[in-house]
Amino acid sequence: MLDTAKTTAPVLILLGPPGAGKGTQARMLEEKFGLVQLSTGDLLRAAVAAGTEAGKAAKAVMEAGGLVSDEIVIAILRDRLGDEDCAKGVILDGFPRTTVQAEALDGLLEESGQKINAAISLEVEDAAMVTRISGRYTCGSCGEGYHDTFKQPVKDGVCDKCGGTEMKRRADDNAETVASRLEAYHAQTAPLIAYYQGKGSLQSVDAMGEIDRVAGALRAIVETATA
Ligand code: AMP
Repeated sequence: MLDTAKTTAPVLILLGPPGAGKGTQARMLEEKFGLVQLSTGDLLRAAVAAGTEAGKAAKAVMEAGGLVSDEIVIAILRDRLGDEDCAKGVILDGFPRTTVQAEALDGLLEESGQKINAAISLEVEDAAMVTRISGRYTCGSCGEGYHDTFKQPVKDGVCDKCGGTEMKRRADDNAETVASRLEAYHAQTAPLIAYYQGKGSLQSVDAMGEIDRVAGALRAIVETATA
């Protein structure tokens, strides 16, 4: 009989408050393991930029640092999960953020005979979040992430990865919105730690340290969880 746990594509979840490093770490795991980073924040920003109905409904909520409705986010994620490249396996970055989303994900995975290999909680202190978030920016061409204090490009204003020179800062990366985003995290997303603990898929990583050290800890977990 086939061991389906080994033949299905890996599904990894990164949990953690805004600024914990989910996006940065997901990109590194994507490169290392050939998985697809799936960020609902990125998908929603693309919907806002494209002016779709979902984007129009999400815009004000995102600017205020609240959570977009489960209905919209689940629909966006379901669509993206159906794309061919996701058959390689996915790293979910910023999804699920509510229990309703977690249950919807369980249902979607069950339909396709998949399971969650690991839900990894990036543990950080709230006090560090404002500095982390307000200093961050990305390359407008390739999306590589940088930070005023923690990760500057070798040449000021030039992306190390692709040579792009247009750097972008997110509209919601400001001190006021960060407070609302942290509140939303504690009220609606932190309960998912217990949710995944109950399912036996939770792993925790101390994410206060340097990016490479955190990446090493994550790699070890992913290697074991997908072996
Ligand atoms: P992020 O890029 O993950 O920090 O997400 C940016 C913003 O998009 C969040 O502050 C929310 O407004 C919205 N968002 C992203 N993912 C979700 C989700 N899974 N559920 C609800 N809102 C989300």
